[in-house]
This record gives sequence, C-alpha cells and structure tokens, in this order.
Amino acid sequence: MEEQIINNIAVIKERIHKACNESGRDPGEVKLLLATKTVLPERIKIALQAGQTLIAENKVQELKEKYAALKEIPHTSHFIGHLQTNKIKDVLKYEVSCIQSLDRLDLAEKLHQRLQFENKTMEALIQVNTSGEESKFGVHPDGAIELVKQVAQLKTLKIKGLMTIGLFSAETGKVRKCFRLLKNIQQQIIALNIPDIEMRELSMGMSGDLEIAIAEGATIVRVGTAIFGQRMYPDSYYWNETEQMN
Ligand SMILES: *Cc1c(COP(=O)(O)O)cnc(C)c1O
Repeated sequence: MEEQIINNIAVIKERIHKACNESGRDPGEVKLLLATKTVLPERIKIALQAGQTLIAENKVQELKEKYAALKEIPHTSHFIGHLQTNKIKDVLKYEVSCIQSLDRLDLAEKLHQRLQFENKTMEALIQVNTSGEESKFGVHPDGAIELVKQVAQLKTLKIKGLMTIGLFSAETGKVRKCFRLLKNIQQQIIALNIPDIEMRELSMGMSGDLEIAIAEGATIVRVGTAIFGQRMYPDSYYWNETEQMN
C-alpha cells in the first residue's frame, strides 16, 4: 500500500513535468494538491511523509475526523467542497488556509463575519462553473467578475485566483473549453486591476485531465484517484446539490 501510493505520486509528478515541458511551462509553477476525500488518514500520512504538503477535503465531517491524526505532520489544508454556512466555524477550527470553493456572496459574508470575530484571515479561490452542468457548484461564468469584486471588499478574505471542475468527457475539446474559459475570466479580472486581490492561481485539472489543464494554464492540479485509487462513492455524492448526505 505504501509503495503503491509513493509510486503513484511519482507517476503524477512525471505527468505534470511532461505536460509542462510540452507547453513550455516551468514545472515549479504547478502545485500538486492531493484530493483526500474518503481516504483514511494512514494513507494520507504516507503521502505527507513522502514529501507532499498540500491536501484538501470536500466535507467538513471528513476534515474533522482526520484532523487529529494528520496534525503532527506539517502540511497545508485547503477546502474544495460545497461549504454550508453552518459549518464555517469548523473550517476555521481545523485550520483550513484556503477555501477553493467560494462561489456565493452569502457564504463569503458569513465567512468574513466569523473571520473578523476570530481575528483571522483566509485565502480564497472563486469557484466557477465552467461546464454548465447543473450538478456542479460554482458561480456562473457571467457572475464571476461581480463576485470577485464583492468578495474583494471583505478584508478577511484574500482572493488568490479561480477554481473549476472541468466537464467529465472523453471529448478533450469540450474539457479544454472549460479550462480556457477559466483562464479567460482570470485575464479579464487581471485587466480590471481590482484592489486587494491576487489572481495568480488557477486550480483546475484532476486525475483524468491534468495535462489539458496544465496546457491551459493551471497552477494547482487536484489529484485523488490517480494517487489513492478508486473511491467507493460516485463523485455525485460530493458534488450534487442534494445535501441529505452531509
Ligand atoms: C475528488 C476531487 C478531485 C480529484 O478528482 P480525481 O478524479 O479523483 O483526481 C479534484 N477536485 C475536486 C473538487 C474533487 O472533489
């Protein structure tokens, strides 16, 4: 099990390197984030001990369950799932440094209130729904710029860029379109010179499509399956609008 995970990480790093080379990018520009949903702490630890430093959960419940076991190993923790406002306190408590799935103003405002109260700040990426699939979260592309402007007013939230989940499709052209759209929105936002934000990070690309994402400018790729193996729940369990399973 240990060897498998370490070997898988090496394979992913190689894929990242190759994709960077092919698009003339510096591999140092692309961070590997481990998507650890459903993965037990013992297995996550193997990856951290092998030198990985960036992990992310989709559900507050899992963040909470794994927190104590992982605390001893230095790492950075992001949040990449749909966050309900009643779970904000826990996200702060379990030391998430960046919410990559910020997709609505009411969530941003409630985060801001709590951050102010605790005298903390948090990094944020604005999640954009670039695939047009109703089952996925994220602000509509047409609303992304406005949301960035609004969140920029909330001083405890430090915007660092954008995040998206590409379309699941064997048609690479359609997948590429999602990533290209995110890049395009990023460029529009940069041109607006909005005060108090950074727009460097593009979190896009997963096990199946990271090469396309890197070619289109990803700075963070989020990989789960290709490192930890197949999950026993379908991804709709994590992404669907229905929240009965939280
Ligand atoms: C699960 C997940 C990933 C990783 O997906 P894999 O296909 O397992 O690599 C990336 N991003 C988000 C938001 C996820 O929920």
